Amino acid sequence: MTKKALITGVTGQDGAYLSEFLLNKGYEVYGLLARRSTPTSWRLEYLDVLDKVKLIDGDLTDIASITRALLDTQPDEVYNLGAQSFVATSWAQPLLTADATGLGALNILEALRQVRPEARFYQASTSEMFGKIQEPMQSESTPFYPRSPYGVSKLFAHWMTVNYRESFNIYGCSGILFNHESPLRGIEFVTRKVTDAVARTKLGVQDKLALGNIDAKRDWGFSGDYVEAMWMMLQQDEPDDYVIATGRTTTVRDMCVIAFDYVGLDYEKFVVIDPRFYRPAEVDILLGNPAKAKAKLGWEAKTSLEELIHMMVDADLERVKREIR
Ligand code: NDP
Ligand code: GDP
Repeated sequence: MTKKALITGVTGQDGAYLSEFLLNKGYEVYGLLARRSTPTSWRLEYLDVLDKVKLIDGDLTDIASITRALLDTQPDEVYNLGAQSFVATSWAQPLLTADATGLGALNILEALRQVRPEARFYQASTSEMFGKIQEPMQSESTPFYPRSPYGVSKLFAHWMTVNYRESFNIYGCSGILFNHESPLRGIEFVTRKVTDAVARTKLGVQDKLALGNIDAKRDWGFSGDYVEAMWMMLQQDEPDDYVIATGRTTTVRDMCVIAFDYVGLDYEKFVVIDPRFYRPAEVDILLGNPAKAKAKLGWEAKTSLEELIHMMVDADLERVKREIR
C-alpha cells in the first residue's frame, strides 16, 4: 500500500529535498502550506516536485488547521520541519519564534495524540540546542545549553517529543541535525550568503562581503544527505533520537577560503567585518558525533564540505548569470 507523509515546512530547504526523496520512494506526499502574501514554492519548483506534492493550507500556530490536515490526509508519517529557523531573527522576534518553533511542535504532538496516534512523528531538532558546548564532540548524551531564543524553543520541542513518546506511546523521533546546506539554503545563512557573494564577485556585480564572527566553527553537511536520515529514523522498530553530523568542524573563515578559491579569488580582498552581524550570544563551535546514526541506521554523510560549497557556488553562478542577463 502507498505510504502517506505529511511535511510541515514543505517550502523550506529540507522540505523540498525530503519531498523529492519520499516521492522517489513512492510515497504520497502532503505539505502543510503556511499562507504568505507572495508564493513560497520556488524550492519545490527548483527540484521539479511542485506538481507532485499535495499542498494543504495550515499553520503551525493554529492547531485547528493541523488537526484538519491530519484528519484529511491520514498520514503514516509526519515530519515537522516548519519553524522560524534563523537564529539571528530569533532575538528580534522571540515570541513568534517560541510560538512557531516551540509551541508549533506541541500543537502537532497534541493533534496527533487526539486524532492520529498511530502516525510516526519526526521532530527537526538542532545542534543549536548544544549552544555553549558541554563536551568537545556532541552526541545524544551531551547536556544541552541553548544560546538563543531559537535554541531554547527547539529544546522545548525536543523534550515535548520525548515526553509524548514516554507518556502516550507516540512513535516520536528527534533528529538532532547539525548545520546542513545546499543550493536551496536561505540567503540569510552564512554559507549561502558567501556562495551568492562569490558568484556576484566573480561576475563583477559585487565587490564587498560583510560578515560577522568568521571565527565561529560549524559542522556543515549537505541537506540532500540529511533528509535520508530523517526517513531512516522513522523506519526503525523503536523510536529514538539521533545526532546527524559529518564529524568535521570548520571556521566560517575557512569556508570562505573554499568558496573564493573555487573561482580563483582571494577572500581577504573582499570580506569585511561588520559588527552588525555579531550575535548577542554566540555559539562558538559545534562538532557532532554521528556514531550512533552510523551504527543503528547505517547512515553517514556522503558529501564533503568542499563538494557542498562548490555545488552551491555553481548554482549561484547560474542564478546570478540569469539575473544579470
Ligand atoms: P527553512 O527556514 O528553509 O524552512 C522553514 C519552513 O518552515 C518554511 O517552509 C517556512 O514556510 C515554514 N514555516 C515557518 N513558520 C511556519 C508556521 N508558523 N507554520 C507553518 N510553517 C511555517 O528551514 P530548513 O529547511 O533549513 O530546516 C528545516 C527544519 O530543520 C527547521 O525546523 C529548522 O529549524 C531545522 N534545522 C535546520 C538545520 C539546518 O542547518 N538547515 C539544522 C537543524 C535543524 P515559509 O517558506 O512560508 O516561510
Ligand atoms: P546557525 O548556526 O544556525 O546560526 O547558522 P548561520 O549560517 O546563520 O551562522 C553560522 C555561523 O556563522 C554563526 O556562528 C554566525 O555568527 C556566523 N556568521 C558570521 N558572519 C555571518 C553572517 O554574515 N551571517 C550569518 N547568518 N552568520 C554569520
